This record gives sequence, structure tokens and C-alpha cells, in this order.
Amino acid sequence: MPEVAPMLIVWVEQARVEAELMAGALSCPSCRGVLGPWGHARERVLRCWVGDRLLRPRRGRCRGCAGTHVLLPEAALLRRQDEVSVIGQAIEANVAGEGYRRIASRLGVVADTVRGWLRRFVERADEIRAHFTRCAVVLDPELGAVEPAGSGVADALEAIAVVARAWVLRFGPGDPWQVASRLSGGLLLATRASAYSWAT
Ligand SMILES: [Zn+2]
Repeated sequence: MPEVAPMLIVWVEQARVEAELMAGALSCPSCRGVLGPWGHARERVLRCWVGDRLLRPRRGRCRGCAGTHVLLPEAALLRRQDEVSVIGQAIEANVAGEGYRRIASRLGVVADTVRGWLRRFVERADEIRAHFTRCAVVLDPELGAVEPAGSGVADALEAIAVVARAWVLRFGPGDPWQVASRLSGGLLLATRASAYSWAT
């Protein structure tokens, strides 16, 4: 399996990405150097609530380590074709007891695809809980202990809810799953265990 480089997650608005990139306001996820513009990544379709969106993500190149990074919008996860909030909706429904086939037909997604998301979330539940709990404490040092919700996946979901609340208090309104995407570098449902190590 190829090494997965963390994506740099940026705001959806293209103009803002461009302005941040041009202003040298984006830093390299590998070495924290300044990213400069470096063409575009390949076009891809992102399946969203509002219908398919064609993305042509900007690419940045680090002035320090010379590494190139795809500036993935926070609505997207690495190697997932569906918008993160659609995936999140499926995960929430499943934790609440709904089966993957019903979720798939309700969301209009292939059943195997939904099963894949859920399986990965279960596999990564402990890391997801730990990662987002750490992020939440960074965002809000006053945060008290997070009460266990009773199962691995429910605790992981609760950690995402907690970090999203801390994010909103600090930065203003935001979709919880887009916050999770951003804080995982697009690797929320990545295969590699080390996917969570870089952001902490
Ligand atoms: Zn770098």
C-alpha cells in the first residue's frame, strides 16, 4: 500500500483558498513551511447533498521541503467520493441502530460503499476518539472530562460532537463533519493507523 501523505484541508470557497495560497498563509502539513501555488490536482466528482460537484483542487508546493500537497476542500475526505457530511449521516444512523442497507437506500448510495465507511469507522473508533478528544482539549483547555457513551463507536461519535462544539465556540458556525474532516487532514476514514499522528 502506498504511503499516504496528509492532505491540507482548506475552506471550500475557491477564492479564499487562492487568496490564502497567494498570501503565503497556508503551511505545509509535513514541515510547517510556507506553501506556494503549484498548479492543480486532477479533477474529481464529489457527491454532495445538493448533487454532484466537480472539484479541481489547487495544489501547493512547500518552499521548505519542496513537497507538493493537494488542497482538499473540507467537505471531502481523501479517496472518498462522497461529501463528508453524507458519510457522517450514515455513521450517525448506524450508531443509532439503522442497518447499512436501509441507510444506503435512504441516502442513494451503493450498499457496499456504506458498509465500507461503517467498517472503517468501527476499526478506527479508538483512534478517532483519542484524536478528536486531544483536538478538543487544544481548542478548549477548559473542557471537562468527556463522559463515555458506552461503546467504541458511540464514544468516537461523541468525541466528534465535542470537538465540533469547541470549534464552533472558537471559530463560529461549522458543519461538525467538515470540522472532523479538517482536523483529520482528510484522513478521517483512512486505512493507515498513522493517519492520526501528524495533527497531534
Ligand atoms: Zn514542507
